[in-house]
Amino acid sequence: SADKEKSSTVAKIKVVVRKRPLNKKEIAKKEDDIITIDPYSNSLTVHETKLKVDLTEYVEKHEFVFDAVLDEDVSNDEVYAETVEPIVPIIFQRTKATCFAYGQTGSGKTYTMQPLPLKASHDILRLMHHTYRNQGLQLHVSFFEIYGGKLFDLLNDRKKLCMREDGKQQVCIVGLQEYRVTDVDAIKEFIERGNASRSTGTTGANEESSRSHAILQLAIKRSANGSESKPARLVGKLSFIDLAGSERGADTTDNDKQTRIEGAEINKSLLALKECIRALDNDQGHIPFRGSKLTEVLRDSFVGDSRTVMISCISPSSGSCEHTLNTLRYADRVK
Ligand code: ADP
Ligand code: MG
Repeated sequence: SADKEKSSTVAKIKVVVRKRPLNKKEIAKKEDDIITIDPYSNSLTVHETKLKVDLTEYVEKHEFVFDAVLDEDVSNDEVYAETVEPIVPIIFQRTKATCFAYGQTGSGKTYTMQPLPLKASHDILRLMHHTYRNQGLQLHVSFFEIYGGKLFDLLNDRKKLCMREDGKQQVCIVGLQEYRVTDVDAIKEFIERGNASRSTGTTGANEESSRSHAILQLAIKRSANGSESKPARLVGKLSFIDLAGSERGADTTDNDKQTRIEGAEINKSLLALKECIRALDNDQGHIPFRGSKLTEVLRDSFVGDSRTVMISCISPSSGSCEHTLNTLRYADRVK
């Protein structure tokens, strides 16, 4: 059918890299921009300065090619057009889609991720009002966080949640609040409320939130024969995941026990995520969900006809070279 054709033209997995501009701090420290981008060939080069045995410097170049490489002057609207916009129509066709932001703390994950659900719901509501008019479709939003392997509802006072499987490969997060929304303003309020509810410690918002994965889900449901009383059934789902800072997975030797436990959990979840996406791409029968809480929660987004977009965020500065190379190698393995 035409629907099927439309859905198959959207790649199963798309890996995009976004470079942010140097920030004031990096400029003040006289750090160099070590990333060059060729948008025409979707390639990116990291110019790493290294030392020879006689302590003279030389530059080692590392070249990577991705599905798209977005330079520092690319706007959030363009990021949306490149990543999420093409998958919006196919979630009306029983498809589940997931968009991840990966990268070290401060690389631009939240900056990149925050506008996407808003733009997507704008497009979803427009399709509901036009193409899918009078079909009893509804849009629902939920927002939760995985912190230290535990789930917290960001739209319900950080209520602790647990997960259950129903035997039909559907995941059920018991007690997760889902809100029906009919306009973009309501979505905006929920996003703001959820963000305000993310884990923040005394050390500052970015510090703590960098240790958690934030998951915002937009679900399209169909009411049962126009009945408002019966539960609506799921049609498709679009998930936005602002992942924990990739460098946090290395906090596994820290002196603080809590930090170490969190680091180990983050490390496990990012490795499991990579394995799941790779298995998805190879159409492998077995997908290793059980590796972590994150992948267990996303289980139903990895089976059947699903789509994944990975946005890898990088800092351009010489001081972040090692983290940037780690991020690009991770993205390269997912591709
Ligand atoms: P992360 O979520 O990965 O820790 P943030 O999204 O919080 O990083 O970004 C860190 C800082 O850099 C923020 O102040 C943000 O506004 C800024 N920033 C990130 N990406 C960009 C970009 N593409 N253009 C301009 N500023 C950016
Ligand atoms: Mg962030």
